[in-house]
Amino acid sequence: SIAVQFHNVSRHYDSVRAVDAISLDIAEGEFFSMLGPSGSGKTTSLRLIAGFEQPSHGAIRIFGQEAAGLPPNLRAVNTVFQDYALFPHMNVLDNVAYGLMLKGVGKDERYRRAEEMLEMVKLGQYGTRRPAALSGGQRQRVALARALILQPRVLLLDEPLGALDLKLREAMQTELKALQRRLGITFIYVTHDQGEAMSMSDRVAVFNKGRIEQVAAPQQLYNQPATAFVADFVGAANVFDGELAATLAGQRQPFAVRPERIRPAGQLADGDVVRVAGKLLDIQYLGAVSRYEVEVFGQKVVSMVLPNEHGQFEAQAAIGGAITVAWPRQAM
Ligand code: ADP
Ligand code: MG
Repeated sequence: SIAVQFHNVSRHYDSVRAVDAISLDIAEGEFFSMLGPSGSGKTTSLRLIAGFEQPSHGAIRIFGQEAAGLPPNLRAVNTVFQDYALFPHMNVLDNVAYGLMLKGVGKDERYRRAEEMLEMVKLGQYGTRRPAALSGGQRQRVALARALILQPRVLLLDEPLGALDLKLREAMQTELKALQRRLGITFIYVTHDQGEAMSMSDRVAVFNKGRIEQVAAPQQLYNQPATAFVADFVGAANVFDGELAATLAGQRQPFAVRPERIRPAGQLADGDVVRVAGKLLDIQYLGAVSRYEVEVFGQKVVSMVLPNEHGQFEAQAAIGGAITVAWPRQAM
């Protein structure tokens, strides 16, 4: 069934169209991400679901129920904020139990369930600590436990890993995904980090200026981006304009080629292959791969990414020298 539905929803602040005529169905049990650059309307969309904001136009339904007029605490959703919003003067257990206290749940049950939640996020030993005595990753887990204790059917997460360093962020991504699978509830996850959205999500909505450019599974976003914006924002891409497309593909529309699909011409067998003469501008060694910047058509720079396992190409390539690159037509 459908957990959350946007029907032609807009949220305007004076002349700013924070969210602009969005329609969207998010299925129950999905790990759904809202991905886009800063200011593209992701947080506003989440706040509209939570009930902290009201649409200027359009309607939101939560499990089929019209949400207009429903206050946040009567919606089957709960939010994890980027800054965690923990109470500094309460210990971890009280922070987690807080929502149950507001609901009038008795003390024994409250603490039993809070301890269960802390076990679930692997913080069983930390109940008596204050948030200030925890690491960023541990605080993030407390915020998660505090939101999940109310057993929301939908969990809203607004850049929840934004404050963590890269290693911890990657570990938390794995944990969050595992947790979502185990609980089977709907996660709606806001991020500006395409890698994060791609690695965790069943589907991703790509936001740009208050609008949705594409909603698709990660693989489809990567391999069949609907717009130049999506191609560029999701992974690296060499985006070509329509005039060039007319020359190469026989149709006037922009297209993109992923850097890892481009090869030195000699490495691709003849067949349905596009070959372009160019000049090698630069080589960046990145460890597992190297990135080659190649100027084609005397003005456009494309990136070619090659694995470093053999290394022989790099040895032959001369910066400033001529190079012919190629890609399979179906990689366009
Ligand atoms: P994101 O979360 O994708 O960074 P937001 O949803 O926070 O984007 O914001 C989208 C746009 O709406 C931005 O231009 C932002 O400045 C504007 N905006 C958000 N909230 C308000 C507000 N309360 N008042 C005025 N403008 C706002
Ligand atoms: Mg935001």
